[in-house]
Amino acid sequence: RHGLPRCPPALHPLPRLSPHLGVPTVWVKRDDQTGLGLGGNKTRKLEFLLAEARATGCDTVVTGGALQSNHCHQTAAAAARLGIACHLALGAAKPPAQPTGNLLLDQLLGAELHFCGDQRKGESLPALEKSLRAQGRKPYVIPYGGSNALGTLALAAAVGELVGQLQTANATVDAIVVASSSGGTQAGLALGLAMFGLPARLVGIAVDKHSGYGGTDEGWLADLANAAADHIGYDRRFEAEDFDVRRNYLGAGYGVLGEAERRAIATVATQEGLLLDPVYSGRAMAGLMDLVTRRAFARDETVLFWHTGGTPALFAYGDALLASP
Ligand SMILES: *Cc1c(COP(=O)(O)O)cnc(C)c1O
Repeated sequence: RHGLPRCPPALHPLPRLSPHLGVPTVWVKRDDQTGLGLGGNKTRKLEFLLAEARATGCDTVVTGGALQSNHCHQTAAAAARLGIACHLALGAAKPPAQPTGNLLLDQLLGAELHFCGDQRKGESLPALEKSLRAQGRKPYVIPYGGSNALGTLALAAAVGELVGQLQTANATVDAIVVASSSGGTQAGLALGLAMFGLPARLVGIAVDKHSGYGGTDEGWLADLANAAADHIGYDRRFEAEDFDVRRNYLGAGYGVLGEAERRAIATVATQEGLLLDPVYSGRAMAGLMDLVTRRAFARDETVLFWHTGGTPALFAYGDALLASP
């Protein structure tokens, strides 16, 4: 065990949002509160990934992402907790004058930052790894979003946690809606639903445009799920057709706050006192709300909104969030 301070995130209903939407009953899984840094779904992946980093004697963890990457802030927090160095390759030409949101957290958590221009998906990780090795470090490189076999497996394990919580709450779920970006979360949840025999539909709301193999490409999702299954000798095979990815909520692109996200964030905040984020969970909730209006769920069904975190980025979007439409 490596002692990452993860809490089992709560599962609870959203009693004011559900009647507000009309149909169906909506519950939330609170992966925004995983107990590492300011939380998020990457904590689950890091729990598995950093156990491997530790076991292989690495002294430095290296990853990358957008300037407001939640994955990066949680990685910095995990590295601090384990007492190892953290290097982050961030997608920006230079540091902004006023660090805020996740970028502020990266700095507070003691990460060393590398600014990589428009490379926001860890394209510069191989070069960074090489230079760290040349300096005598033993880097452990985590791919964009922590989406590899091990990171994916962590989300499959999360379904086991969910099943226990559903039993305790005497509740069932018919569908799960989750934000999808580098793919490990959706692939892992799909694997977990199969492993734990939970017959719920899984709907991934893509937050980033489709750009070939990788990200939310269905073939990539199947490969991730199969690689994670292989890792534990589980013999279910996944195909691209096993994945439901919705790409019609991309608006003006990754990280661009639109009216749908603004409305979803405001609705959930004022109805439930629950904070979503502008890039991922706000877009996923906008998708859920649209699916409700399109009658994608029956009246007597229960939909689980898997809150993946991201709330630190709210502070980087203040003006856009409060602008009137
Ligand atoms: C990374 C992230 C996601 C998407 O998870 P993937 O495994 O990359 O698909 C969703 N929400 C938030 C807040 C994230 O940081």
